[in-house]
Amino acid sequence: MNTPIQTRALTEQQAGELTDTAKFKALRPVRCKSCGNTYDFGRRVFWIGGVPKAEQRSESTQALIAYHLKERNGVSSVFFKTHRNEFYVDSAVCGRYGATAIEFDIELSNEMLAEVSRLIGKPIEEMRSEIDALADRKRVVPSSSRSDVGAGRGPRSVVTCEGRGDRSFLLTF
Ligand SMILES: [Zn+2]
Repeated sequence: MNTPIQTRALTEQQAGELTDTAKFKALRPVRCKSCGNTYDFGRRVFWIGGVPKAEQRSESTQALIAYHLKERNGVSSVFFKTHRNEFYVDSAVCGRYGATAIEFDIELSNEMLAEVSRLIGKPIEEMRSEIDALADRKRVVPSSSRSDVGAGRGPRSVVTCEGRGDRSFLLTF
């Protein structure tokens, strides 16, 4: 890699603006792996620079970023997201004991469904049943066996989660 990868922790305010967006709300902290807490999570978001778009899905690149964030920032679980052509890592801190190994899951909020529905021009109810069917089959769909939810409706995928186990995801619309 030519450019070194940069990671920069966003301020609480910057992170708050991002986590208020549909995409960041959709894949959100749901459970602390150490104490089982399911609410009261602080959010830590990092801006990642120096990673070309084509590299952002690379497992080795994601593993490298995850490693650095763990070493330097003590973040155990990281989730990769793109937003407005910027690359971010989303993570959370348990409000109870400050643990950072937090499970994230996709919440199908009405707001998110409405946004995706608008993007791909498919009724919300139809999307919801398709996504529910996908979720039943597998919680996280690996790229190798990913179903094309929006197949035949243009190049845009609905929700793409790619990751290694439950550790990292790249959520793109
Ligand atoms: Zn906890």
